[in-house]
Amino acid sequence: MPVTPPDAQEPDTPDALQMRLAEVKSRVAAAAFTSGRSPESVRLLAVSKTFGAPIVAQAARLGQTCFGENYVQEGVAKIQALSQQSHLPKLEWHFIGPIQSNKTRLIAEHFDWVQSLERLSVAQRLSNQRPPNLPDLQVLIQVNISAEPSKSGVTVQEALDLAGAVANLPRLCLRGIMAIPQAGMSDQAQQACFGQMQQLWQTLKQQFARVDTLSMGMSADFEQAIAAGSTMVRVGSAIFGERT
Ligand SMILES: *Cc1c(COP(=O)(O)O)cnc(C)c1O
Repeated sequence: MPVTPPDAQEPDTPDALQMRLAEVKSRVAAAAFTSGRSPESVRLLAVSKTFGAPIVAQAARLGQTCFGENYVQEGVAKIQALSQQSHLPKLEWHFIGPIQSNKTRLIAEHFDWVQSLERLSVAQRLSNQRPPNLPDLQVLIQVNISAEPSKSGVTVQEALDLAGAVANLPRLCLRGIMAIPQAGMSDQAQQACFGQMQQLWQTLKQQFARVDTLSMGMSADFEQAIAAGSTMVRVGSAIFGERT
């Protein structure tokens, strides 16, 4: 008899998802509390890449409304599938992956936020392609704080220049910056990265009225990121389980 392989991208049980989500939320709240901040000052973005629409729907029924996706087609398919489920709350979708120029239209037409902006040409395309019936696209500039040549993101100086240009584009609303620090750094190096992000964010906040978002922290480091002032953590595996 053929055996169906276990699909690793399905959560073991609905209960497991519920427990993991509750655990992450309470860890976020505890980290905020420890830093003298309110739990509401940190938004939880559930990174659902590689997991199917039914799992996202489950998370939505548990009250999670913001989701992050890295791949355009995969994200758009989920957005469309879930927008047809009228019993779900209104969901907010964040594009957090590398942006190819030929995919900007799909992003502009389907996502609410883009966190991975690093080129003015892409910002201009998103601005031109944002449909008139949708609210402005909310954008974060991705910063490569450790200046690793292999990683996405702009330098601090480039971020300041790009922010000025983006703020002048119609249909885009500059909300802040995002970083993916290198994995496996020493605690000290990680703290230095988070600290530099916080400093850049403060500078941008003084210059641009709508800047209120510092997106940093993932499953492995969101507590440290919150201690360093993060206002949005992007958590995948700690909520949905390991990706294959
Ligand atoms: C995958 C991903 C995450 C989530 O990573 P986890 O380690 O699973 O929490 C967060 N941010 C970005 C940009 C990602 O690509």
